Amino acid sequence: MNIKVLSLFPEILEAYFSASIMKRAVGKGLVSFELVNIRDYAYDKHRKCDDEVFGGGAGMLLKPEPLDRALAAAGSPEVRTVYVTPSGRLFNQAMAADFAKEENLVILCGRYEGIDQRIIDTRVTDVVSIGDYVLSSGEVAAMVVIDAVYRLVPGVISGESLSEESFSAGLLEYPQYTRPEEYGNMHVPEVLVSGNHAAIARWRLRASLIKTLAYRPELLQTIDLTGEIGRLLKEVIDGGGENEPRAANSGGTGKN
Ligand code: SAM
Repeated sequence: MNIKVLSLFPEILEAYFSASIMKRAVGKGLVSFELVNIRDYAYDKHRKCDDEVFGGGAGMLLKPEPLDRALAAAGSPEVRTVYVTPSGRLFNQAMAADFAKEENLVILCGRYEGIDQRIIDTRVTDVVSIGDYVLSSGEVAAMVVIDAVYRLVPGVISGESLSEESFSAGLLEYPQYTRPEEYGNMHVPEVLVSGNHAAIARWRLRASLIKTLAYRPELLQTIDLTGEIGRLLKEVIDGGGENEPRAANSGGTGKN
């Protein structure tokens, strides 16, 4: 997969592309990245890329001409082209998996007040927000999208690691523990050191349900609740036993 990022400040992304798993994935030839400076496509004397907003209002907007040329050179809109903006569709794991199927992906970073709408109308295929807050520029949002996408390209990370993660089955991941088995006066739940794989799987599913119910109850509306999951969820809602896994701070104080 090739991912091309168009930005006014591509240097922000350079360090990220040369780090850890990303570097290994590039080394293995599974993914490649290209950084494109939008300013290289501004042909006037001052290489101007922004201008005032028609109709008034504070701030500047990225001009259409340099963006249009840069995106045309990248193959947009025939190549899937994501514009990151707070006024887009909320990014999620399903979208990341969908983007990961592409041979080529273009990601356009905005700045200032954003970009001229005519570019979105003609060159962009996906308008994506990474959350309900406003960042000062698109590079951080682009990193979020790229990071979620490239790790789903087959071969980058083992299928086993991915299949147990949050959202892969529509639920949040269960709590996890490592050595030491006893830390302070806190013990790892007994079932996890029992060696009983069926009991461990059941505990984990139950813990996932408890956590999802506490932090992200809306996710439960998107999964099939017939069978084992539905039965366990009913048990959890009806009140768990003493050894029930718990979601920290499920009261919503925002601490965890
Ligand atoms: N005027 C825009 C609005 O109110 O929707 C905000 C522009 S923001 C200051 C500048 C750039 O940051 C955007 O063009 C976009 O590329 C990026 N950005 C900011 N917040 C984002 C978010 N939540 N998701 C994706 N991109 C974001």
